Amino acid sequence: MFIADEQYSEIEVIRDYFAIDPWLIRELLAAEEESRQQGWFHRIEAVSTLNHYKILKAFQELGVNEFHFQDSTGYGYGDLGRDTLEKLYARVFGGEAALVRPQIVSGTHAFSLCLNSLLRPGDTILAACGKPYDTLATVIGIGKTVRGSLSSKGIGYAQVDLTDQGQPDFATLAREAERLKPRLCLIQRSRGYQTRPALSVYTIGKIIKTVKQASPQTLCLVDNCYGELVEEVEPPDVGADLTAGSLIKNPGGGLAPGGGYVVGREDLIEEVAASLTAPGLGKELGAFAGKRLFYQGLFQAPWAVKEALKGAILAAVFFHKLGYPVEPLPWEARYDIVQTITLGSREALVAFCRGLQRGSPVEAHAQPEPAPLPGYKEQIIMAGGTFIQGASLELSADAPVKPPYTVFLQGGVSMAYTKIALLMAAQEIYRL
Ligand SMILES: *Cc1c(COP(=O)(O)O)cnc(C)c1O
Repeated sequence: MFIADEQYSEIEVIRDYFAIDPWLIRELLAAEEESRQQGWFHRIEAVSTLNHYKILKAFQELGVNEFHFQDSTGYGYGDLGRDTLEKLYARVFGGEAALVRPQIVSGTHAFSLCLNSLLRPGDTILAACGKPYDTLATVIGIGKTVRGSLSSKGIGYAQVDLTDQGQPDFATLAREAERLKPRLCLIQRSRGYQTRPALSVYTIGKIIKTVKQASPQTLCLVDNCYGELVEEVEPPDVGADLTAGSLIKNPGGGLAPGGGYVVGREDLIEEVAASLTAPGLGKELGAFAGKRLFYQGLFQAPWAVKEALKGAILAAVFFHKLGYPVEPLPWEARYDIVQTITLGSREALVAFCRGLQRGSPVEAHAQPEPAPLPGYKEQIIMAGGTFIQGASLELSADAPVKPPYTVFLQGGVSMAYTKIALLMAAQEIYRL
């Protein structure tokens, strides 16, 4: 191999194992070298180390032991492992309490629980970052009212768009919060399927301050998907009342097999728990099997997020050099794990996804096709041969099939694998 025997270089290994054109391999390895030389990986590695210290300390202080990993059954009364996992999340994210459950089926479900438990008819939601993520827009009932949506229950909605630079419009936010006195303000950290930048936790803190100054009773809920552990602080640290997300994204570390979390103020978590189970039952019930993977996933998450971020930078440098617009640019600060690449045509988009799929460890022989997906307006094409269905801390790509054919790439818990998948994606485009 290329380490033991300098006669056999990494280029040759990749070429021989994966049948990739050597010029593409050379481009990719040059992109990796440049990223290292320019120091673009440094900050990511430093943040990962800090987060790892924080998590290790929390494990030690809470006395995590093997007993906590045991399954509970039935009602799940007295499940100490479940309660300790929730304390761990509360500590790591800087909240008073948390719900971390396999019974929360996804991120969307976690947000839906928060919104449905906190809002009453006549209340208003104010979205601070323009239109929310597609599935959340459906939960709220923006544009059209589906059965069970908040708009069908008499809950109002207003939004303040981001500025042309993709930053919060603080003046309008202050004015709208003052005028509407919304019960809840929704703040989305990541870009989702939009070509806006992700927000730093610092900026989220400024939004919260602006809104609460104008309307002190307004609760701030942060959609934390794809942003967890990308920085050394989290939304509860800057005053978010509730923060929620998915366990098959960042905090699951690529190991948690499903579920969602909510962290924040204790009284609000109680309210959400009453919706998840039943009033009077709250957090005390809920059998939980396979807890070790949730613990281990959180423990490994800073590492996995770091690999994903480095893979995103590598993708940015590589595809930027090949002539495609990318966002963020390689040298820009990152506040989520998402990398967009604008491929310019339906054919290139489909080729990219097929190549990425071919480079996967699972279902490498599947052919991604554009298809409708519940909760989304456009057809979506998705690639990702992941161990856990739909897991997007594992390397995956999704794109709404519409101009300018921008693919959203995220995850990849090992850079070595990300390199091969990126090469296969590029090769598939060049073979068109
Ligand atoms: C993924 C995502 C969601 C929804 O999470 P699911 O687990 O897919 O339901 C919401 N908001 C953002 C920004 C996301 O990236």
